Amino acid sequence: MNPTEPYVHWIHCNKCYKLYIKKEASFYLLACKHVICSLCAIELPQSINGPRAYKCPVCSQTTRACVIGNTMPKNIKDLFHPQPYLDGLDNYKIMSFQQEQRKKFFEHMYKLETRRTNLLQGIELAKQKTRQLFQNFEETKAERRQLQYVCQGLRLNKDSCASSTSSGYSSAANDRNLNEL
Ligand SMILES: [Zn+2]
Ligand SMILES: [Zn+2]
Repeated sequence: MNPTEPYVHWIHCNKCYKLYIKKEASFYLLACKHVICSLCAIELPQSINGPRAYKCPVCSQTTRACVIGNTMPKNIKDLFHPQPYLDGLDNYKIMSFQQEQRKKFFEHMYKLETRRTNLLQGIELAKQKTRQLFQNFEETKAERRQLQYVCQGLRLNKDSCASSTSSGYSSAANDRNLNEL
């Protein structure tokens, strides 16, 4: 089995969900059966001549780790076999490991998809609100223009009234002057 083939697309870091096939990091299978990328792996100080130990960032167990790849021992490599029943392997053990991993992966994808849908709905709502606000703004602008015309009209009327009143006053004054003569 070659774990770099497409059928291993479900192999992911159980902590950050980075995908194995993207080859952005090394991947480990920990003894607790969690798959962890090298960026999430917490390596513990090595005891003299002891095996390298890791603290699982998912379940916090202190465990040993095996690098996922072609150099894995056969019993670990078998866990990634795409069709274990065809090769007479421990089908139940292998399938339950793979199903658990797939479940984690698809739950994460579902969460991402739900978040994406909610975001898109939020964007659509914000767009509608912006359109509505813009329309309100345009209507207010038109109303303001209308009011300006009305004000201008009122000012002109007032000015013409004032000038006719002042001319009326002067003619009345002239009449009075004439009577006094
Ligand atoms: Zn990771
Ligand atoms: Zn673990």
